[in-house]
Amino acid sequence: MIDRSTIWPYEGGEPGHFYYRRYAHPSGEAAEEALGELDGGRALLFPSGSAAITALVLALLEPGKTIALAEGAYYGTGVLFQALARWGLRHVEFDQTGAPPDGTDLVWLEAPSNPLLTMPDFEAAAAHAAPVVCDSTAATPVFLRPLEHGCDFALHSATKYLGGHHDVLLGAVVCARDEDYERLREFRGRSGIVASPDEAWLLSRSLKTLEVRVRRQAETARELAGRLREHPKVETVRYPGLGALLSFDVRGGSAAAHRVETSVRLIANATSLGGVSSVLETRSRWEGERVPPGLVRLSIGLEDAEALWNDLSAALDQS
Ligand code: PLP
Repeated sequence: MIDRSTIWPYEGGEPGHFYYRRYAHPSGEAAEEALGELDGGRALLFPSGSAAITALVLALLEPGKTIALAEGAYYGTGVLFQALARWGLRHVEFDQTGAPPDGTDLVWLEAPSNPLLTMPDFEAAAAHAAPVVCDSTAATPVFLRPLEHGCDFALHSATKYLGGHHDVLLGAVVCARDEDYERLREFRGRSGIVASPDEAWLLSRSLKTLEVRVRRQAETARELAGRLREHPKVETVRYPGLGALLSFDVRGGSAAAHRVETSVRLIANATSLGGVSSVLETRSRWEGERVPPGLVRLSIGLEDAEALWNDLSAALDQS
């Protein structure tokens, strides 16, 4: 049941556990408990993945601090950090397959990175003096639990696999330590960066099917990655074998890749990832020269693998 109250009566003249929605609400806490269990820490929900990123860096850092950001991480994360530069937060990019640069105050990893699908060196990051965040949106806790690899925080755009149906916009931070959880929870309550009960309830519903969804999606992704590697129109396939996100470069650059995205019929030509229906798009339209011009990002859903391959190979034949 979704409790949409913004207030709950005091008990015997004193506030109970729930008293004002900005601080906590039952649907939010139920989803947080389920996600915390999956990731092995204490979860906090936010109204989007980007809201989770914003809240985390504002709660942890102050003007003059520097974030070491994994090169090729979700491009929106770098754009957001750039926007926060006006408030004195700096960021530098580094190759996450090696050690983060010295003298930085927060390490930001992404596993696997979107859309270049690199994996971080967790050992090198954990050896760094600064706290470590791992955006594990694409892996989900089914394939990766960053806190078990020495990270202090796991971060999710729950809009993706955790929500899983392209109908929820949510984010989450899972904290390894109680004091970090308390600090972030306090900041969330003060700043009001709070997820709604309806979205939280949808997340609880989706988490019940997370494991079966993403295992099946990953199985299909592995199969299609193998077939794409054999296709003459495809140059490079990136699939680290973790989750259901992959990317490939179409021979012939952006014009050829654009023909692929406009030729698919079963797979939607749309942004985002992680849902039960497959989507693909060229990424240079958003990211410019950060990615190869022929790069297509493909998020595999729950459709039949043969039907997906028929659609994809027919589209490649058009390129
Ligand atoms: N992190 C990753 C890896 C993403 O792919 C995205 C969105 O595409 C985000 C964070 C931001 O999440 P949201 O769109 O829910 O704000």
